[in-house]
Amino acid sequence: MMAYMLKRSVFMLFLAASAACSQAPAEPQTVAEFPDMNVDRIMGDIRKLSSDEFEGRLPGTKGEQLTVEHLVAQFKQAGLEPGNPNGSWTQKVSLVGLTPQPTGLVVKKGGTSREFKPHAEVVGFSKHVAPAARIENSELVFAGYGVQAPEFNWNDFGPLDIRGKTLIVLVNDPPVTKPDGTLDDKTFGGKAMTYYGRWTYKYEKAAELGAAGIFIVHEAEPAGYAFNVVQGMGAERFDLVTPDKNMGRSAIEGWLSVEAATELLKMAGQDYQKLKALAATPDFKAIPLGMTATMGVTQKMRTIESDNVIAKLTGSDPALKNEYVVYTAHWDHLGVRTTGDGDRINNGALDNASGTALVLEMARAFKSLRTPPKRTMLFLMVTAEEQGLLGSQYYAEFPLYPLEKTLAVINIDGVNQWGRTSDLTVVGLGASELDDYARTAATEQQRTLTPDPEAEKGFYYRSDHFNFAKKGVPAFYPDTGVHFVGKSAEYSQQKRDEYTKNDYHGPTDEVKPDWDLTGAADDGKLLMAMGYRIANAAKYPEWRAGNEFRAIREKALGR
Ligand SMILES: [Zn+2]
Repeated sequence: MMAYMLKRSVFMLFLAASAACSQAPAEPQTVAEFPDMNVDRIMGDIRKLSSDEFEGRLPGTKGEQLTVEHLVAQFKQAGLEPGNPNGSWTQKVSLVGLTPQPTGLVVKKGGTSREFKPHAEVVGFSKHVAPAARIENSELVFAGYGVQAPEFNWNDFGPLDIRGKTLIVLVNDPPVTKPDGTLDDKTFGGKAMTYYGRWTYKYEKAAELGAAGIFIVHEAEPAGYAFNVVQGMGAERFDLVTPDKNMGRSAIEGWLSVEAATELLKMAGQDYQKLKALAATPDFKAIPLGMTATMGVTQKMRTIESDNVIAKLTGSDPALKNEYVVYTAHWDHLGVRTTGDGDRINNGALDNASGTALVLEMARAFKSLRTPPKRTMLFLMVTAEEQGLLGSQYYAEFPLYPLEKTLAVINIDGVNQWGRTSDLTVVGLGASELDDYARTAATEQQRTLTPDPEAEKGFYYRSDHFNFAKKGVPAFYPDTGVHFVGKSAEYSQQKRDEYTKNDYHGPTDEVKPDWDLTGAADDGKLLMAMGYRIANAAKYPEWRAGNEFRAIREKALGR
């Protein structure tokens, strides 16, 4: 009887102690030993952040103020430390809204000239934070796909000096084929898009080479969107206010309709289809067109002050605590619609109140560990993702902690709200050794990894982790799995399609009565184990050979 009582009281003591420490042993080994994610608390945060009171969390509004206050309050309550080394919980991010009014594009060859009409034939804008920007009699160059990819021994520019010139480039990756005519998936990604295929890359490369202007030829199929989508880029766009006011960018960036490009190249005595075929071969080198371009943009400007929110958990190893693992989630969404009947508030419950709430819960779980990981964990909630990944870009340009000491970033943009899955989707699976951490943790949960089912859409380049990848930091981007436990094989695609059709970026992205976050909790635990193990690992995770960010990382680490 005594023995039983003793045993029982020891057991009760153990229960009390483990409850206080969220059942986590001092150093959790298996995924199961990590603290459980509290589904009710996650749901509470999602409800709060996506409530009408928060007005759709547009940067620079009352919705931002309420969001930042809530996040900081939660981090404080969880016992985390302010993440900014200056002692604050935020990093200020200045944004500028630019509304361009472009002229036409005047192309001259000898005595003849032709004006391409703004909006209908050519879309032009400028990142320069200035009331006007201009290209004037700038030499035109056809530069293929506008790609320099050392890992594929690919250089569309050849020895030509690009400074002051205006580039015409093609959209997407060079579609390199094998001798049998099929796509070569060893050069660029085959069907999957690499960063070289994104329009943002092409503008950045043009700026790096000192081009005065750049126009991408729009073709609906390889672009993945119609010309009216790029015409929409002529509306107000937000951008960062960098110290150089973006003067390092080409004065004018834009798009040409394929019809306009065909005509422009014909003026130069060139055939569009022939040039396009040539540009898909490794021997292609930029071709001066013997013509000049003139175009101007005037811009309306307004500035907005916004905030990234950041918390940290200092590492437990004195020798490693100045190295970092980062979790990111964007807190912002689209605000309130200016037109339409009924509910106009874009609540952004899934996008991305949910990811923000899960990162908050993971931060609490990390803090509940008796011994923090050896390296320092950062929990970064970024602003203005919906305006073009701007908050994360700001952090990556002006990091609060050195990126060469940042081992990895794990980004959450939307969590699984439809129940448990036997897998986790990894957007960009195969990119880095972070997959190995994910696979190990998934296996411990008796789960598997699934590659992104729509790799041709380039989703890896469309959320906040990507700004870290561009600077070389290995970046992991999970998504909801596709195999729902106890559901049909079609269930996943059906739910995804419903969301895309009905709720994506609309006022009905709200918490639904049937939401079930048990799957998100599994994912959170997996991602927590990943971050913890990376933070305790003997070596830095690396990009795989052939990945477009590997060379950047190697250089940053001085290898
Ligand atoms: Zn999002």
